[in-house]
Amino acid sequence: MAESEGFPLAEPGLWVERVGGRSFPAGRPGLFLDRDGTINVDTGYPDDPAAMVLRDHIAPVIAAANEHGIPVVVVSNQSGIARGYFGWDAFARVNGRVLDLLAEQNAFVDMVLACAYHDAGSGPLAIADHPMRKPNPGMLLEAGRRLGLDLRRSLIVGDKPADMEAGRRAGLRRGWLVDGEVSTMDGLSVSPLRDAADLEGLLAAIRSL
Ligand SMILES: [Mg+2]
Repeated sequence: MAESEGFPLAEPGLWVERVGGRSFPAGRPGLFLDRDGTINVDTGYPDDPAAMVLRDHIAPVIAAANEHGIPVVVVSNQSGIARGYFGWDAFARVNGRVLDLLAEQNAFVDMVLACAYHDAGSGPLAIADHPMRKPNPGMLLEAGRRLGLDLRRSLIVGDKPADMEAGRRAGLRRGWLVDGEVSTMDGLSVSPLRDAADLEGLLAAIRSL
C-alpha cells in the first residue's frame, strides 16, 4: 500500500501515533476525546485542513489535562477512508492542522488513534463491526495498553452515543456528551457538555484525577 508509507499505521485500517515527548508513569487515568464534532467542528468527512475550526472551549479542557499530567488521547472513527472519500494522506494533513490549532492555544495531544474500517468500504478496510471501530473499545484498549493507563479512572468526551459506548466497553466510569443529556449506561455515567457550567464540571473532574 504505497499511500501508507511513512504513516504510523499499526495495520491497514488503524492509525496509532504517539505525539510529543511527554512521558507518564504507569497507572495514570487518561482523557479520551473523539475528534470530529468534539475537538473540531464536524464538517462531514473532513478532508481539507484549511477548513478545520476548533469547537469553542475544548482547548482549555485539553490544557487542563496537560497541566495535571493526564495523558490526552484522540480516538477517531474515519470511515471516509474505507468509503474511498479520502486517504490516510488527507487524514494526516487534517489531523496535523487540528493538532496545530490546539497547540496555538497551549493544548497538546499525546496519542492519536484513528480507525478506517467500515463495512461500506472495499478491499482490506471493508470490515463490519471491527473491534477498533467505536462503539467497540479497541482504540481505547490499545491506547491504555501503550500508555499504561488506568482505564477505570479515565474520562471520555464525545459527541455521539457510540463514543460513550466505547468508553463503557473499555471500562471507563465517566463520559461527557456534547449537547447530550444526563444518563447512565450500565456503569458509565454520562454528563452533558452544553454550557459553561458543564464545562466547569468537566474541568473539575480533570483536576481531581
Ligand atoms: Mg464525533
